Amino acid sequence: MYYDYHVHSHFSSDCEAEMKDIVEKAIEFQLKEICFTDHVDYDYCHPSINFDIDVKEYTQYIDLMRNRYGDRIKILKGLEMGIQPHITEKCDRFIESGDFDFVISSIHTCDRKDLYNGDFFKAKTSREAYLKYFEEMLYCIKNFKNFNVIGHLNILGRYNGDAAKEKLEDYFDVLEVIFKELINRNKGIEINTSSLRYKDILLLSFDALKLYYELGGKVITLGSDSHTVNTLAYKFDYVYEILREIGFEYITTFEKMEPKFIEI
Ligand SMILES: [Zn+2]
Ligand SMILES: [Zn+2]
Repeated sequence: MYYDYHVHSHFSSDCEAEMKDIVEKAIEFQLKEICFTDHVDYDYCHPSINFDIDVKEYTQYIDLMRNRYGDRIKILKGLEMGIQPHITEKCDRFIESGDFDFVISSIHTCDRKDLYNGDFFKAKTSREAYLKYFEEMLYCIKNFKNFNVIGHLNILGRYNGDAAKEKLEDYFDVLEVIFKELINRNKGIEINTSSLRYKDILLLSFDALKLYYELGGKVITLGSDSHTVNTLAYKFDYVYEILREIGFEYITTFEKMEPKFIEI
């Protein structure tokens, strides 16, 4: 039974898949729950790109989906909030006004530069890039309140070839601080399977997940980061296997920002 907690719809400006089609596909795939996590990125480094949503319209559409399909699948209203150190307060205010079930805190812009187009990596060694990325992440964990999990924790490897060669193991001292901070705040991480589609690597290595487990981490969501209908719950069976092998017995779902633990 799968619970996909990272799904984009036509409410994200980089996604054309209709929410209705996604829900129908999720039912066909027999997903138990689907959580829409459309993009909101304030102060994105390219002013021409607008990652924002009309919450009223978003809510109405999700309510419509619940009315139409709610007897076959549970549909949650989430968000993928693009976080940066200087906007944590603004993001908190926005989420507090929105009645969301679940919020992913994701870094898409670091050092005020874009990760996706590679600007962030220019004039930095991979190690400098990693240290800066984790520094901003830690700041955001300490200062941003209204989120549940960190999105695609090792996104640097997704967008940059040299960064992909770095070993997370070389940053375990920093990662330990980040995990402890998350655990103390009852927050967690997601396992984002999108990188398995492109590069056949998990964005969090087995050993990094093991470190999280050993530190007492319990909150874990699974997300396909789908921008099309066909990638829902992609390779979740494989992730379940890894989690069980490490010792995890549960994954996490959310409703009104409160966690529920589901046996795997
Ligand atoms: Zn993202
Ligand atoms: Zn996403």
